[in-house]
Amino acid sequence: MGFADKYVWALGASTLQDDETHHATEPLFAAAVADTVGIGIGALLSRVKFADGSISKVFESGTQNLPHLIRTWSALVAQKGEERKWVKIRAEWDVAAASALYARVAQRSLAHWLDGKCKACCGTGVTAERRICQTCKGNRAEEITGQGFEANLVKDMISELDGLLQAHNARAAARLRREPAGSIL
Ligand SMILES: [Zn+2]
Repeated sequence: MGFADKYVWALGASTLQDDETHHATEPLFAAAVADTVGIGIGALLSRVKFADGSISKVFESGTQNLPHLIRTWSALVAQKGEERKWVKIRAEWDVAAASALYARVAQRSLAHWLDGKCKACCGTGVTAERRICQTCKGNRAEEITGQGFEANLVKDMISELDGLLQAHNARAAARLRREPAGSIL
């Protein structure tokens, strides 16, 4: 089992006893520790992406973790946008335009990262007639549409999300290797 699988399993485990047969608390503990080293968003990403049920329903129904994730991610994107000067602030109007851009980039990147499958073919790349899907040209992912500048920012932020989750999983997995079963209590 990879770390993400162990983590999801632990979240869903009915018992949190940690003995020879139940190592459920171990990945949770490792994830919590990994997050204190990182920026705190890794465990949340993992929870929402892998454990909150059908992702396509997540944005409509909302889950406990999603609003928290949207807030955390939006703040992070706004911070990056300012640092990287996505918008040159010359007038008061630019401040409003910049916040609107940060919010759109944050929402679109998170939505795509959580569920970026091509809707026309449900991410299979082929149609029911076994032809290559014309919408995604067979590459299975939903196209990131819109103006070039903004679309590129959305793509950058999707890579950031991938990076954050990978870094989180690597830290948590390293912690699990250092602390063999039973020794973390
Ligand atoms: Zn498609």
